[in-house]
Order: sequence, then C-alpha cells, then structure tokens
Amino acid sequence: MAFDTIQMVDLQGQHHRFQEEIDAALQGVINSTAFINGPAVKDFATNLSRYLDIPHLIPCGNGTDALQIALMALGLQPGDEVIVPAFNYIAATEAAALLRLTPVAVDVDPYTFNIDPAKIEKAISPKTKAIIAVHLFGQACPMDTILQMARSNGLYVIEDNAQSIGATYTFPDGTVKKTGTMGDIGTFSFFPSKPLACYGDGGALATTNKELAQKIRMIASHGQQVKYYHKVVGCNSRLDSLQAAVLNVKLNHMDEFAAARVKVAHGYNNGFTGHKGIITPQQIPESTHIYHQYTIQVGENIRTALQHALKAKSIPSMVYYPVPLSGQEAFRNIIRIPEELPVTEKLCKTVLSLPIHTEMDTLQVEYIIRQVLESYSSLSSKFSTEK
Ligand SMILES: *Cc1c(COP(=O)(O)O)cnc(C)c1O
Repeated sequence: MAFDTIQMVDLQGQHHRFQEEIDAALQGVINSTAFINGPAVKDFATNLSRYLDIPHLIPCGNGTDALQIALMALGLQPGDEVIVPAFNYIAATEAAALLRLTPVAVDVDPYTFNIDPAKIEKAISPKTKAIIAVHLFGQACPMDTILQMARSNGLYVIEDNAQSIGATYTFPDGTVKKTGTMGDIGTFSFFPSKPLACYGDGGALATTNKELAQKIRMIASHGQQVKYYHKVVGCNSRLDSLQAAVLNVKLNHMDEFAAARVKVAHGYNNGFTGHKGIITPQQIPESTHIYHQYTIQVGENIRTALQHALKAKSIPSMVYYPVPLSGQEAFRNIIRIPEELPVTEKLCKTVLSLPIHTEMDTLQVEYIIRQVLESYSSLSSKFSTEK
C-alpha cells in the first residue's frame, strides 16, 4: 500500500467504491430534470428521518443555513443570548450574530472537546434563550445534563450535528437516541468532508415538534406555505435533487463508514497510549464515537515542528481549530464571554487532527503511528535540550 498518498479524507477512493450506483442515481435525476424538490429529495427526507428515528426531517442548502433557520424558527429576537462552545467551527456563532442575537462563548471539556455543562450553568442570564450543543469530532455532548439544565431554565436546545451523524447517546434510564434528535432542533451538514457527504453543499434540520417542523419548512421556502403568499420573512435554502441522489446511496452505508473510522481510531489509540506527551481523545461512556476527526494533543512548542516533520513523510495533519471563537475579529464587539476560557485557549495551541477516513488500511495507520512517535521523540529531546 502506498504511503505517499495518505490524505485527511479520501473522497476519490470512496467515490470509486460507489461510482456505478452513484452515476446511475445522478443520471436518473438528470434524465428526469426534476432538479429542485424532485423525488430524490423527498426520498432522502424519508430515508434520513427513518435512520434517525425522528418524525420531521427538512432538507436545506447547507449546515450553516440549517443553524440560521433553526434560530429563526425558535423565534429568537435581537438581543437574545445563545450559548455556544468557544472551541468550535464558526457556523453557529455566525448564524446567531447575523440574526443580531448575542452569542455567549463558554469553555469545553479538555478531553472530549465538547461543551462543558458546568460552564453553561454559570453563563445563563435573564436574556439567555438557547443552548447550541455542538457534537464535535464524532461524539455526543453530555446531553442528559444539558437537557435538564435547559428544562429548568426554560431554554431551547439546538444540536449542531454536522460532525457526528450516526452517533448514539444513552440516557440514564436506558433510552438510546441518535445525535441530532434529542433537543428541540437538530441541524446537519452534508459538505463533502462530513461523515454523511454529498458532492457539493447540503444540509438538513430534524425535529420531533410538528409546529416547529412547519415553521422550518416555511422559513426555508421564502416564508411561504402556499406559493406566492409569504407569511414571514424567510430565506431560500434547498437541498438540490442531484445531492439528494448521492445522499440516498451513501446513507445506506453510514454505519459501515463509521465502523471503518472507529477501527482506525482504535489503531491510533493502541499505538499512542502510554506515550508521554501525546494525549489521545477520550470518549464518554454514554456516547458512541464515529470519529469524524481523530484529534491528539501535543506540547504547544512542538506542534508546528511535528506537522512539518510529518509532512516531510507525506503525512498530512490539520489544526481544528486554531483560534477560539472569542478571539475572532469578526465577533469582537458581538460575543459575550462570561468567564475565562483556559481550556479552549490551550486546545487551540495543542490539538492536532490526524488522517482518518473510510478508505484507510491498517498498514497506513501503523505507518502514521510509527512516524508520529519517531518525530515526536526526536523533537521532544531537541526541545528539552534547548531549554
Ligand atoms: C461543517 C460544519 C457546519 C457548517 O456546515 P456547512 O454545510 O459547511 O454550512 C456547522 N457546524 C459544524 C460543527 C461544522 O463542522
């Protein structure tokens, strides 16, 4: 197996495996010319709602739109506060800011990278209306605590499930739910690198609440239920039929995709445990992990050099995410930060995501482990003698 072709995500390899089926599905849409809201889109909504076991599933244009539509459907008003994790992709905070809501950034857990419920509690003010629980890198947030906290404070919960579709969470009473189906609204992205991916942009919202589902549908369709009669100010956000056709094929293989990534992650865990200086990602017992990312933590003085050393051996790596949301220039006068964010600030300097995808083989995983350990030990001895 070639070691000079390792990628963070192997879209080509996965496409080749399903090419015939996907080509036929795409050709079917083209022949039908039902490009917008065609049968493929309706089928996908049905298929995904069945997979997630949730009654209402509304496809939309992308995961960022899904977050904005969710905030609009909940009727949040300018000045309302929305709690978000400070260690996160930009989308949730951006959607809140666009609607003139106030994003409130709170710190995360140092080992799972997910929002820390203890920090949420301290950030709640009389203006707080919602919590956005982002299931980061492939596993669920501690939803039992978050939902209880939301209930006792009268807050909505939006789950940003762009990265963890297919993961499950077990409640203390034994109930098992899929991520994206536990809060008021779950949002999804099907961007090409996500765990369920199309060949362009795509997204969706899920809810158990029929009224909310109607509002979501209306908002995503120019605020209309009947064509040309606009009840509210909405937007235009649609999943197109070609993307839905791709998703219908891939959805059938979701659990097998997750299993392939979990195998890679377990290989990494075995390879790295016991190595001082490399912190492996932790999983909470209540959640399964689908490993959208495999993210280690290394010394902040070593990270950049390690990335260079790996690159020289044809191993790509990425930093998700280099800057806390609270440090983004765009949000300087918008975001509220009730408490310091030491965990997020440290993570931004120490996290490193390694290649993980559905096409990786054991030899590649072993090669990467060997190179990470070798590079790490030579770098750490170099840095310690310099001091
Ligand atoms: C990718 C992503 C989004 C946004 O999805 P798009 O489809 O690219 O708009 C939102 N939240 C998280 C956590 C993401 O990773």
